[in-house]
Amino acid sequence: MLTLIEKIVFGLLVLGAAAAALRAADRIRRVIRRGWGRPALDKLPERAARAAAKAASFQPTWRVRLVPSLLHAFVGWAFIFYLLVNLGDVLQAFIPNFAFLGTGLIGGVYRLIADGLSVAALVGMSLLLVRRFVVRTPALRLHENTTVHPQARAGIRRDSAIVGTFILIHVGSRFLGSSFHLAEQGVDFWQPFASVVSGLWHDLSPATITVMQHVFFWGALGSILLFIPYFLYSKHIHLFMAPLNFFLRPERKSSGQLAAINFEDESITQYGAARLEDLEWKLIQDAYACIMCNRCQDACPANATGKALSPSALEINKRYFINNHGAALAAGQPSPAGLLDFAIHPEEVWACTTCGACVDICPVGNEPMRDILDIRRNLVLMDSKFPDQFQGAFRGMERQGNPWQVGPESRLEWAEGLAPRVPTVEENPDFEILYWVGCAPATDPRARKTARAFVQVLQAAGANFAVLGRSERCTGDSARRSGNEFLFAQMAGQNVETLNAALGEHKRRIVATCPHCLHTLKNEYGDFGGHYEVVHHTQLIAELQAAGKLKLDPAKQSNVTFHDPCYLGRHNQVFDAPRQALAGAGAAVTELPRNRSGSFCCGAGGAQMWKEEEAGTQRVSANRFAEAAATGRDTLAVGCPFCMIMLTEAANTAKSAMQVRDVAEIVAESLVQ
Ligand code: SF4
Ligand code: SF4
Repeated sequence: MLTLIEKIVFGLLVLGAAAAALRAADRIRRVIRRGWGRPALDKLPERAARAAAKAASFQPTWRVRLVPSLLHAFVGWAFIFYLLVNLGDVLQAFIPNFAFLGTGLIGGVYRLIADGLSVAALVGMSLLLVRRFVVRTPALRLHENTTVHPQARAGIRRDSAIVGTFILIHVGSRFLGSSFHLAEQGVDFWQPFASVVSGLWHDLSPATITVMQHVFFWGALGSILLFIPYFLYSKHIHLFMAPLNFFLRPERKSSGQLAAINFEDESITQYGAARLEDLEWKLIQDAYACIMCNRCQDACPANATGKALSPSALEINKRYFINNHGAALAAGQPSPAGLLDFAIHPEEVWACTTCGACVDICPVGNEPMRDILDIRRNLVLMDSKFPDQFQGAFRGMERQGNPWQVGPESRLEWAEGLAPRVPTVEENPDFEILYWVGCAPATDPRARKTARAFVQVLQAAGANFAVLGRSERCTGDSARRSGNEFLFAQMAGQNVETLNAALGEHKRRIVATCPHCLHTLKNEYGDFGGHYEVVHHTQLIAELQAAGKLKLDPAKQSNVTFHDPCYLGRHNQVFDAPRQALAGAGAAVTELPRNRSGSFCCGAGGAQMWKEEEAGTQRVSANRFAEAAATGRDTLAVGCPFCMIMLTEAANTAKSAMQVRDVAEIVAESLVQ
């Protein structure tokens, strides 16, 4: 029980902390609202269940760094349970002879969990502090060449030290307070750890034990009230913002799906993001949710190959900028600096392959890739600033509908000599499947072999298909990913017109050998009036195999390993079909260490195909190919023409005997005529 004076002081502290919390929450809300768009508050029960499940299980953290994730979970679970413990302790301190949740079984289980989690949190927090400050794990460092807010490097360490110390004081005080209580009341079967520690206080006088209970009450609960004003401006607000991020997260068809810009709307004067307030609201909220763990940096292919880009630094820089200018931003004033002045350098912006690894791995649901793409839009559409090497690809898409600058008259050359002949939609109007060939398979000599092999498979299965031929144009994927949304919109509009006319009212599927085409057609053409069922060629092959439509000779195959393309796997969740297609053809698949959603980019996505990589220690494709070569397999199977081009080049540079082949080629080779 507290004395009257203690109760009054405690009440005043509660009022002060509540006022500080409300003020900070209101400022955060107003800063986030500076971004465009608003949260869609549909499917609230599902959203709440998803957020609660993620917050309670810490499920997003378990995929990597198992030991730190476990230590973090100890602290996190204790924090969640301590919401109840703190309430119980306050009630017990104010109400005479009150036992929170009673003295029966329920009260006993509650005390047991509180006791166990207190010890777990103390161990977890202590070891996390050792990891950061004694071991100084490189995983928590940012590259020297990365753009980092001047306050961030020291600030993150200071923040971690303050919060770590607070948690040790808060939980440690509560635990020691319980042990003094047991020293007075006698040991408790339901509090084994505190009971053991209570034995240390046997020699103390009753008066001392009472004083110590008061001291540790204030250590546990007074500390939290004093800490709240700091906590709300530290990175540890992720405790609330991470579940909120999952709760409010916009529903996207794919992690790579981008929103269209309405160029007809004359009220829009800013395309893309020049300043913080030009970002979508969710991307501003991401800065508050970021725990600064660098998991995204670890997964980033640009960062892993020595480029300056770090998705975590981008979020950290946004957060420090908001901390410095939060009052002005909340009041609606324009940011005093542009994103390129404090958040990220243009070289880092152009180094992103849009692989989505940062989005996929982030334990709090952040999407740094989207900031980068919004910044690219501003650079291209507002400032006309982009790598010179894009000029050729942009011109090719504009004039010839092909970034390789090959005209429509050559669009069917890849199929010359095939027998039977590849029919166009005009020649076979009753087709069931439209094969969207894509620019690379239609143009690049190596990728053409994939298209030819896939057609052989379709013909062997007796599939009723057709191609658009000369009326097919680039989907505009590279234009969109490089920020040239205006060009993308033009190409999407033209292709949707062609596709809608070709597909008619019938429910006919599109199959694509390029995951970038698949992604764009399936997830992004809806905004332009094109709603299609689109599958990847490996999905169709697996389906034809399962239906018994392909006669394959498994004996023809060598050992292979498979590279998951980012826009097939991570962005569109197609992982099993290519493996099934390979297995069906008799290929023994050895998994790469970084596979499925943990796959490592080939280096071509995000329009990197059309420019040189930024300065670093290694090419992204060389990094990935070395991993594949280390498996000792004969063949590296791919399912994307961009991956094919990049990894073939890497194999040639490495003078490796390993073959890089598309899944369709491997299956076609196994066909029994
Ligand atoms: S999308 Fe990929 S390349 Fe771009 S920042 Fe994220 S992890 Fe790095
Ligand atoms: S964006 Fe996500 S993964 Fe990256 S540092 Fe922040 S919390 Fe960690």
